Amino acid sequence: MNEYKDEIDKRRTFAIISHPDAGKTTLTEKLLLFGGAIHVAGAVKSNKIKKTATSDWMEIEKQRGISVATSVMGFEYQGHKINILDTPGHQDFAEDTFRTLTAVDSVIIVIDGAKGVEAQTRRLMEVCRMRKTPVMVFINKMDREGRDPFDLLDEIEAELQVRVRPLSWPIDMGQRFRGVYNIHEGALNLFTPDKQRVTETVTLTDIHSSELKTHVTSEQAEKLRTDLELVDGVYPTFNRDEYLAGDLAPVFFGSALNNFGVQELLNCFVETAPSPRPVQAEEREVSPYEPAFTGFVFKIHANMDPNHRSCIAFVKICSGRFERNANYRHIRLGKTMKFSSPTAFMAQKKETVEEAFAGDIIGLPDTGNFRIGDTLTAGEELHFRGLPSFSPELFKYIENEDPMKTKQLAKGIDQLMGEGVAQLFVNQFNGRKIIGTVGQLQFEVIQYRLLHEYSAACRWEPINLYKACWIESDDATELENFKRRKAQYMAKDLAGRDVYLADSSYVLTMAQQDFPKIRFHFTSEFE
Ligand code: GDP
Repeated sequence: MNEYKDEIDKRRTFAIISHPDAGKTTLTEKLLLFGGAIHVAGAVKSNKIKKTATSDWMEIEKQRGISVATSVMGFEYQGHKINILDTPGHQDFAEDTFRTLTAVDSVIIVIDGAKGVEAQTRRLMEVCRMRKTPVMVFINKMDREGRDPFDLLDEIEAELQVRVRPLSWPIDMGQRFRGVYNIHEGALNLFTPDKQRVTETVTLTDIHSSELKTHVTSEQAEKLRTDLELVDGVYPTFNRDEYLAGDLAPVFFGSALNNFGVQELLNCFVETAPSPRPVQAEEREVSPYEPAFTGFVFKIHANMDPNHRSCIAFVKICSGRFERNANYRHIRLGKTMKFSSPTAFMAQKKETVEEAFAGDIIGLPDTGNFRIGDTLTAGEELHFRGLPSFSPELFKYIENEDPMKTKQLAKGIDQLMGEGVAQLFVNQFNGRKIIGTVGQLQFEVIQYRLLHEYSAACRWEPINLYKACWIESDDATELENFKRRKAQYMAKDLAGRDVYLADSSYVLTMAQQDFPKIRFHFTSEFE
């Protein structure tokens, strides 16, 4: 045990994830209100980049500006230090969200009670499963007509592949929504739509007491009793260890807009959610309680002002205590660095801090030293494993439009890729650079930023590709044979790994059949 134990144990660092419009921003705001971090509703700006804004650069810049302020929201609640990490909702920025998930110890998933599990939620949950991140589920918009709660739970289990355990249960929905029974605490929380507040909480440990009918209609009381019996019969009792292992997701029902069911979620969250967890480095597992500072960069936010090309590197502290102006080692560059103005994020303000602890996120002003995934330590040679890159969906050749600016273009591409804006593959046959993205918007962002931040003009040329596969084999000769046979389609990624660029699903299947000793991976990291 060490001197920072209390500091570390009180930290809860998590992300709220959802499909756009399920209510993530609304829920975030209510959590901040409970934490006293903000005092008025409407203070949290959604950082989603609206579809209509995709070609409006001023709008995107404005929204990016907002998103830096709300990237991390820290506040104190009941003796805990809460750090909420915001994630972009727009699916073209899904990679950003994936990376943010590497920096959290748990996740709250918001699901729209009428829509159920949607595409984006499914993808994000895949990442949580991969990392065994504990998840809690908030089923939102119960004040609207929605789906049957049992159907929703079935869908969550089937689609998100996680066992569920409801800890609250809704009494009716839509116009007739009466509130929730808090199974966790044995209390009835009554909903009054006009007041938009939890007006009444009735402790009711015995759901069969006649008192229930003084608060809800006879039918609602009957239904609640049968539902709860069924809940107890069907779902496992809540077990914290299973939750912490990522195997069991507690579920809450409520209405974020009406601030209903949110406090129960928050109370259960601070009690149950994990404090900072150990983080795996290539060399060993790092415990948050180790006294020596370690951390990694999971996000880089560039300032788009061409006159001040500076960024903020977001660092998740994995162990120990970070100190302002102390010497730390930048492992990839093999350099010792000192940070004179690290910032912490409290509520919606950024402020310079003297120290921060495992679990916290700090922002380090940077002029191009950092890349996503970089490790910082107090001296030890460690490499934290980031999240693997996934095969992009879209590919284009990037070509130089201005021969006078070749150097600037190369530098710009290198930096933007280091920031994780998109993925770069260099074709080993003809040396051409290929950019891979998850959405069309990234190509526009890259072109715009190259021009405005690096004065480098580029153009895109089509390339017909289906998938990028990272390849490996225990048989070196076979690997060489493959690379020779597919020479025109072999590329290197930013880290210098071999990537096979398959131009169709058919060709890929044939390659897999012809080369059984080669393993094809659709993510850049594998065991
Ligand atoms: P995000 O895209 O997930 O951040 O979603 P927002 O928080 O921006 O919410 C999307 C829309 O749903 C907004 O118009 C909210 O006012 C609305 N909304 C959020 N929570 C509720 C709720 O509990 N009930 C109802 N009826 N609407 C809600």
